[in-house]
Amino acid sequence: MTPKDFEYFVPSSVNEAISLLSKYGDEAKALAGGQSLLLLMKLRLAEPKYLVDLKKIQGLSYIKEDSEVLSIGAMTRHADIESSDIIARKWPILFDTAKAIGHTQIRNRGTIGGSLCHADPSADWLPAMLVQDAEFIVSGKDGTRSVNAHEFFIGAFSTVLNSQELMTEIRIPSPKNGTVGSYLKLSMGPGDFAIVSVAIQMTFGDDDICQDVALALGGVNEMPFRSAEAEDALRGKHIDGNAVLAAAEGAFKSVSPISDLRASADYRKRMTRVFTKRAIEQALKRKKQ
Ligand SMILES: Cc1cc2nc3c(=O)[nH]c(=O)nc-3n(C[C@H](O)[C@H](O)[C@H](O)COP(=O)(O)OP(=O)(O)OC[C@H]3O[C@@H](n4cnc5c(N)ncnc54)[C@H](O)[C@@H]3O)c2cc1C
Repeated sequence: MTPKDFEYFVPSSVNEAISLLSKYGDEAKALAGGQSLLLLMKLRLAEPKYLVDLKKIQGLSYIKEDSEVLSIGAMTRHADIESSDIIARKWPILFDTAKAIGHTQIRNRGTIGGSLCHADPSADWLPAMLVQDAEFIVSGKDGTRSVNAHEFFIGAFSTVLNSQELMTEIRIPSPKNGTVGSYLKLSMGPGDFAIVSVAIQMTFGDDDICQDVALALGGVNEMPFRSAEAEDALRGKHIDGNAVLAAAEGAFKSVSPISDLRASADYRKRMTRVFTKRAIEQALKRKKQ
């Protein structure tokens, strides 16, 4: 199928894009990499009358860090994150996540901002943002606001963004010394969305005790979430094999999985246990490196 007719704009600044979105309201859509939106338009599940393409706006694609925060422009492509030296050096969760998304072609076009604003519950960036306590910078005609990842996602394909707002930047606090992390996903095959995904970040003190932990599960429930049961099994503990198994069991107990074409609820639940264990082990391996 082909999309319904639409009017196409290519603004050269964020302000111009916001003016267009404000003018046309719910009838307009921002276009980033087009990897989700164009598909929906071809299927006629989205029928915007006005498309506001962000590709010519300078300064929305970058990865930079200072001592406190990593900043990623919303139009930064998954592939740019995957190949960034900054990410490879210090941000293993982001590296794992970018690498796990779709095929090379998808990673070359799709953007982190587009993925977050689309809010597919099985998308890889969502759990990674939850465990790293990311902040999203959002601009609209009334100014700029910062929204924490925990408040940004309302439900499947739904966020707090209004139709006149743009996400411009993702900010992730720098991890403390002694922090390790990983992201792992089970899918039907390369290039497919998550059946189960696990993001974990742990911070160890000099005594080798896990002082802080965040563990998020994606693809299993209606929306990605942090598993308090899994985190409680790790926080304040020396992480040996038993602690890892207890965390995997905690994750298993914390899910209320969905069934869909990709997997049954029962399979998702059992794989949650397996992939939580593996993700923690992958993070611990990095601690030793
Ligand atoms: C075959 C295939 C396989 C895929 N596999 C995976 C996978 O394994 N894992 C995964 O996570 N994803 C996967 N994806 C999705 C992919 O990651 C997309 O890149 C992503 O969902 C959307 O990013 P985009 O830049 O293409 O956004 P678009 O498709 O251009 O936009 C998506 C939505 O976000 C809005 N939007 C975009 N940018 C902004 C912004 N800056 N501010 C406000 N609103 C904005 C748009 O209006 C639209 O509603 C796959 C896609 C395909 C087609």
